[in-house]
Amino acid sequence: MSFRIVVTVVTLLMAGGSLSQGADETVALEAFESDTLSLFKHDDAVTIMADRSQSLIVLIGYCAAIMAASVGGGWLPSIFRLTHTRMQTTISFVGGLMLGIAVFHLLPHSVHGDNSIDDSAWWMMAGILTMFLLIRCFHFHHHGPLEISTAQEDPCAGHDSHDHDHKRSSQALPVIGQPYCHHAHQLSWLGIAIGLSLHTLIDGIALAASVEADAKYPSQMVFYGLGTFLAIMLHKPLDAVSITSLMAGSGWKSRSRFLVNLIFATMCPIGAALFVLGIRQFSGMQDTVVCAVVAFSAGVFLCIALSDLLPEMEFHSHNRFRLTVALTAGVLLAYGITFLEPPHLH
Ligand SMILES: [Zn+2]
Ligand SMILES: [Zn+2]
Ligand SMILES: [Zn+2]
Repeated sequence: MSFRIVVTVVTLLMAGGSLSQGADETVALEAFESDTLSLFKHDDAVTIMADRSQSLIVLIGYCAAIMAASVGGGWLPSIFRLTHTRMQTTISFVGGLMLGIAVFHLLPHSVHGDNSIDDSAWWMMAGILTMFLLIRCFHFHHHGPLEISTAQEDPCAGHDSHDHDHKRSSQALPVIGQPYCHHAHQLSWLGIAIGLSLHTLIDGIALAASVEADAKYPSQMVFYGLGTFLAIMLHKPLDAVSITSLMAGSGWKSRSRFLVNLIFATMCPIGAALFVLGIRQFSGMQDTVVCAVVAFSAGVFLCIALSDLLPEMEFHSHNRFRLTVALTAGVLLAYGITFLEPPHLH
């Protein structure tokens, strides 16, 4: 019976972490509870419950680690001197890891059962376009503002042909304490807030779906969805650095920076809770939904990784060897994680 207690506590925790104790969620919670109770009437119930509670515990652990990484990442500029080159090396490594997770894990994991590769292709395209449109609408995903702290380094050093255009138009641009090159558009606080919140919410959903997809295959490895978790945990500090250094550049106090950063970080467990509670609504077709969300996440990861990687490649030409090594290391790490997973997943 201790499983039941664990699951009930965990479920309540998840529900407590979500946006509100709204009617829908209460219904979902009750549905899940009754689902849980009826399972106990069957012989395999204990095994299923063990897996379910285990995957929930893993998911809660992941969310806590991601929140810690996100909140901690916001402080990085005050500890390290985050030069443009260091930041780009990190972005290359994390970008490579996200590419690898999308291609080596999320996409293959989404193809099984009734789900064909064609279904996955559609959902992946939906993920790519959704993220693309979010970035186009809200312009929230440039890790540029961190260049505030690197005024000594000229981030435009590698520019050639389009250098002159920037210099000519620079007088007309408002001075917001950051280099103007390739960030010439006006920064909209509301846009960034909405964009980053949705970005982190989608990450939380992707994380929960990955855990759910892997939890179907009981194995020695309890760290379901490890690749997705690592990619999100290492990517979040980059987002956090962007928002906190942007705020610092606009004169916000460190306490408000911490609070805003914390709110963004909280969107991850909210996304995970929405998925865990939402998936219970699809009895009978849960597998299809999980597969679709995992394929969608593959598209999201591809778009995020490339949006981080491509501008540096296109506009700068410094440290090309170092950045390529970092990118390759990220991809290889993602590939290496496939060996930690049960063989029938790949
Ligand atoms: Zn995998
Ligand atoms: Zn991001
Ligand atoms: Zn550069």
